[in-house]
Amino acid sequence: MKKQILSLALTIFALSAHADIRELIDEDVLKQIAEETSGEAAKRNLDTITLQHRMRASSQFDNATQHILNQLRHYGLDDVELLEYPADGQTMFGTQKSRPVWDVRSAELWELTEVNGETVRSRRLGDWDSVPLTLAQDSLSGEATTTLVDIGAGTSNADYAGKEIRGKLVLTSSQPESVVERAVGEFGAAGIISYAPNQRSAWWKEDDRLVRWGHLDSFPETESFGFMISLGEARKLQARLASGEQILLHARVDASHQTGVYGFATAAIRGTDRANEDIHFTCHLDHPRPGANDNASGCVSILETARTLNALVQEGILPRPSRTIRFLWPAEIEGSIMYLSSHPDVSRIKANIHMDMVGGGPVTKAIFRISGGPISVPSFIADLGHEIGHFMNEQTEGFASGDTVDFPLNAPEGGKEPLLALMEGLDMGSDHDVFFEGSWGIPGLYLHDWPDRYIHTNYDLAANIDPTKLKRAAFIGAVSAWFLANMSDEDVPAVLSLLERNALARTADLLERRAQLNAIDAIAVTDIHFTVERRKVHSVEPFARLSEEAHGEAMQYLADLAKLVAVPQIAGIAGAGRNQTVYERNPEIKGPMSAFGYSYLQDHLPEDEYSELKLRSYRGTWGSSGQYVYEALNFVDGRRTVSDIRDWLTAELGPVPLAFVEEYLAALETIEVIQRIP
Ligand SMILES: [Zn+2]
Repeated sequence: MKKQILSLALTIFALSAHADIRELIDEDVLKQIAEETSGEAAKRNLDTITLQHRMRASSQFDNATQHILNQLRHYGLDDVELLEYPADGQTMFGTQKSRPVWDVRSAELWELTEVNGETVRSRRLGDWDSVPLTLAQDSLSGEATTTLVDIGAGTSNADYAGKEIRGKLVLTSSQPESVVERAVGEFGAAGIISYAPNQRSAWWKEDDRLVRWGHLDSFPETESFGFMISLGEARKLQARLASGEQILLHARVDASHQTGVYGFATAAIRGTDRANEDIHFTCHLDHPRPGANDNASGCVSILETARTLNALVQEGILPRPSRTIRFLWPAEIEGSIMYLSSHPDVSRIKANIHMDMVGGGPVTKAIFRISGGPISVPSFIADLGHEIGHFMNEQTEGFASGDTVDFPLNAPEGGKEPLLALMEGLDMGSDHDVFFEGSWGIPGLYLHDWPDRYIHTNYDLAANIDPTKLKRAAFIGAVSAWFLANMSDEDVPAVLSLLERNALARTADLLERRAQLNAIDAIAVTDIHFTVERRKVHSVEPFARLSEEAHGEAMQYLADLAKLVAVPQIAGIAGAGRNQTVYERNPEIKGPMSAFGYSYLQDHLPEDEYSELKLRSYRGTWGSSGQYVYEALNFVDGRRTVSDIRDWLTAELGPVPLAFVEEYLAALETIEVIQRIP
């Protein structure tokens, strides 16, 4: 034991104490990428895209796509193409049902007053042409001249008690989709006016000017329309209603669901000897106007990554990469599911780098994050992304403090703030969820800002976007892609030494987490921790040869480290009370259980069964409900038992009752998403 500790100590001392990406990537290459990447070029593209109200498969989404295609051709990218998928409300792409096109011709909301016995328009509260966000998404045609009734949350019968709703417009604090069945379907309201506030953060409800993105169902049972107004406007209306005043409104919407086409831009920088392997990039081009940070920022940043690397190759400054670097501008989540589920050869995608909200300037209060993904997809790519992030944090912090640094990475028209990126594991909420998902299990990175006080509102403006941040996001993309697209056997030692250094830090983290667990969980979680570390070592294999010698050394290092932090085993617990059922994924049903505007799980399970699934609302020590259900399915691999899956969830997100996991997996079995291995 003593000897092993000594050898481990020597190994640890031999590790570089200081993270520096220059051990992985040549400094001259980094300099050329930094110099070519332009925050201003990205910002200029953003200014154009933010003019469009980019609802999936709509004409304004297509306008934004056309701008991307024009620029890709102008920049001289390879394989510039428009990928098309039906938007017909029927076709199933994996677990995503294609949504119909939502086509709006006009929408207006006016207050009316009586002047000398005549009813005239007195004040405009909403107008599609000037502020399209004032119309809730998936609103359908309707017209009403009627009075306003306040229904509060509108989600329980008490909210309607004693009120005359039929034929009236209802004012609610909830999203239109959460009240439409009761207010319109049951009680016969003419339409909905909502002031549902912005997404929760410390600034929630603080800025009462914001008009938030509202939603109705893409597959409605009850057809209706909803107008979105600001909290400030709602408070004024409520005060007048409370004083007994009648408020007369005129609402008119001309909009319909139609069949059409989702069109997504794509392009590539073709590789050489490994051209049939892709290093892949995504963003999501859809979202309401202006949608500057969410997500014009990610779309123009991957466009700038494309422009930068292609320009360096065209100029002969960098050689053409070994692997192909490919870019895609889809509609969020649904587009990625369509793309992957109908892709002729997903196995060629070796990594995906997703950017969603990467440009928030100081006014947005954004914190930039680099997520390496869930432990269901263990990969050195997470370590690579974090290494680049640490390097940029150090350089940009030095720059902000007045030091002379080699990589200030600031745009002349942008800020000089330090990047201060947070390094994360699993963090959900965008297209990366689809790429990491168990059906595909593609490793990668997710770059994003959170919080953003203006997300999904009419104040998510281009003016809030910092060209320096766009440059830095594009730089992370370009550097990661350049390394991965050229990674070969020679790079393996540097990657393994990075993994060893990070394994040490992660093992320290394990000790802290383990202290919060009972003895049995502590044993299981420790075991899983080292399994993940070993799989991270093997994750280099799709990119390069892991020699027997290098593999042996890496495994020995982890074995030594494991001995150092071993938990005393408890006699007689093996197998006790464990659920040994093993499930495998049904390969015919690909994709996550809930996507955009459609939930496969909800659509296939009886409503009461769906709403009672305990894992769906479970919050653990380190994770939330959405993460538990997402990873529970991702861990289904034909080898893990149900109890193993419960232990892996515990390792990543915190302890969870076995019964909740059993119930969830049994539900997935009834809808044939997974099947039992006899
Ligand atoms: Zn987004």
